[in-house]
Amino acid sequence: MDCEKTKAELLKEKLFSVKKNAYLEMSENEIDEAYDFCEGYKDFLTKAKIEREFVTETIARAQQMGFSEFDRSRKYAPGEKFYVVNRGKAVILCVMGSRPLTDGIRLTAAHIDSPRLDLKQHPLYEDKEIALFKTHYYGGIKKYQWSTVPMSLHGVVIREDGTSVDVNIGEDEGDPQFCVCDLLIHLADEQMKRPAAKVITGEELNLLVGSRPFKDDKASELVKLNILNILNEKYGIIEDDFISAELEAVPAYKAADVGFDRSLIGGYGQDDKVCAYTQLEAIMEIDKPAYTCCAVFADKEEIGSTGNTGLESSFLKYFIYRLADAYGLSGIDVISATEALSADVNAAFDPTFPDPIDIRNGAKLNYGVCVTKYTGARGKSGTSDASAEFVGKVRKLLNDGNVKWQTGELGKVDAGGGGTVAMYLANLDIDVIDVGVPVLSMHSPFEITSKVDTYMAYKAFKCFFEER
Ligand code: MN
Ligand code: MN
Repeated sequence: MDCEKTKAELLKEKLFSVKKNAYLEMSENEIDEAYDFCEGYKDFLTKAKIEREFVTETIARAQQMGFSEFDRSRKYAPGEKFYVVNRGKAVILCVMGSRPLTDGIRLTAAHIDSPRLDLKQHPLYEDKEIALFKTHYYGGIKKYQWSTVPMSLHGVVIREDGTSVDVNIGEDEGDPQFCVCDLLIHLADEQMKRPAAKVITGEELNLLVGSRPFKDDKASELVKLNILNILNEKYGIIEDDFISAELEAVPAYKAADVGFDRSLIGGYGQDDKVCAYTQLEAIMEIDKPAYTCCAVFADKEEIGSTGNTGLESSFLKYFIYRLADAYGLSGIDVISATEALSADVNAAFDPTFPDPIDIRNGAKLNYGVCVTKYTGARGKSGTSDASAEFVGKVRKLLNDGNVKWQTGELGKVDAGGGGTVAMYLANLDIDVIDVGVPVLSMHSPFEITSKVDTYMAYKAFKCFFEER
């Protein structure tokens, strides 16, 4: 008789919230699917380290899947697929639904920029016969994490004659790499007394790029000259061309499995390419949706979504206006009926650093995709706090779709905070909530995610798009 449950046990089953590790609830088949899915993710993460590369790769994939460039002069039939690129650094993929546009769009928005070291406009200098690049870090970083990391250089240079050249060096086997140097521990007594924010300062984030002088006895700055000569031969550029360039130094290594059990993924730029990739895979598989589906891949989130490629700008709004125009509809009506998932990462609980997370409300690795009702700092400042009604709707959607999910608050009250693009979507009169993957070591050169959480993000976006 001892196998019979007591009244209290039965009542607990009925009333208590139970969240389990996703591995304990997923079938072996589904776990295998998740691991397979992440092989594609690791490849993409390695190939698309900066926003421009992500856009290029996305368009190539989209074209293969039948997406064509958006033509505002025409109407699209249900199931038709198209995309619109914003200045090479952001892109919107769209699949036309069978419902009228005024029923609203099912929209997901991830960002494809990540913290990194941008080159300054006058980057190259020689000091004591060593050549270096001055950098200006982009996004919130612990600067000390970015020294002694092998780095590659990505981006574009616009030459004086207006032609452009793409740069990607340090990724291929045999390519040279770059790095920010740090002081040897033997001589670092003074440095080690600095507060952590200043162990490496912004002006010390100088990228080592060479040391061999051009052979000449008379001229000065021969190491710098030699570097410029190499760059001129390879890319046809001169020093002034750096002024009209966007060059980004990022960690040079590939994404990799982490752990003996290969349950985790390590790599650069997973905030927020883990959500960008999963929403990309989701929209690629949408065939004849009821609602028109849009996946937005935005730039500049890491510096506040500012600028004309960030979501604080009007590019998304204008796209929807133009789409509505072709049907003689009001873009305002389409936007107001739209529902969105802000696809961005959250912090995963780290047992080594338990303090800043309220474990009852924080996200955990392997507990599925994370739904974040609000972000913000100091009393929810600067957040879009999703309504109970919209949270309720998303909760039902995920449960009905058998998506493993959890909630996550970005750290303890007063521990710090952050924000996402959710507030900019909310400003457009859109119902929106954050849904994304928990990350360890966020904003570091080697961020960690869980394979099953990543897979569940893909499933979540897919069932959101598939709503009838
Ligand atoms: Mn993010
Ligand atoms: Mn971030």
